[in-house]
Amino acid sequence: CGIVGYVGHRPALDVVLGGLRRMEYRGYDSAGVAVLDGAGALRVERKAGRLANLEAQLDAVGRDGFTGTAGMGHTRWATHGAPVDRNSHPHQDASKKVAVVHNGIIENFAALRAELEADGVEMASDTDTETAAHLVARAYNSGETQGNFAASVAAVCRRLEGAFTLVVTHADEPDTIVAARRSSPLVVGVGEGETFVASDVAAFIEHTREAVELGQDQLVVITRDGYEVTDFHGDAAQAKPFTVDWDL
Ligand code: GLU
Repeated sequence: CGIVGYVGHRPALDVVLGGLRRMEYRGYDSAGVAVLDGAGALRVERKAGRLANLEAQLDAVGRDGFTGTAGMGHTRWATHGAPVDRNSHPHQDASKKVAVVHNGIIENFAALRAELEADGVEMASDTDTETAAHLVARAYNSGETQGNFAASVAAVCRRLEGAFTLVVTHADEPDTIVAARRSSPLVVGVGEGETFVASDVAAFIEHTREAVELGQDQLVVITRDGYEVTDFHGDAAQAKPFTVDWDL
């Protein structure tokens, strides 16, 4: 029900948890975070229930591993699969290199799931979302999108039916986050040496008021230096810049 992603110069965990807190008013049943540490590792924690439950879990495992300055967070409103820990986002592929958070519904997930299972993939959750994590990993590991993170996500988006705001991280791409949308909101926040993506400007308003609203079937690649918007075929696309003028 809420999504935030961050690439910048501050510890991503704090920024992401702050963003999730600002979207709590929307309601949710589970929460999770993923932080890239820049050295090829991706740390994921997720928990059913309130954000406080996730924070307690983070304290229990220790926050020392979460030093990275890129990461993302999610609050879930379950549509496919009960609101339990293993269905909480982020979802990952088997290699644990890819992590995905998603708001919305992937209508054709059953067919995608069957295709992946026929390929030997074992599902770790009951969600529609998990299929996207495996598909991105497969696209990144082979075929014409091999090694191209944004093109891999775009190729997967072309196959998805339904409504989605997706944010994707890859352990081998520690300075980049890719996000995409169809029939579900996605905004970019442009700061100084830091860039945000979110389902709601509330997630980053305390950091920047310069925002960009993505259009239908658009994808954005963010780095700490800025952002680039394309369609799902990789062609440059126009998104709508605006300034958030409401008070905190
Ligand atoms: N359909 C996804 C799920 O049930 C995402 C739900 C949401 O929008 O939070 O996990």
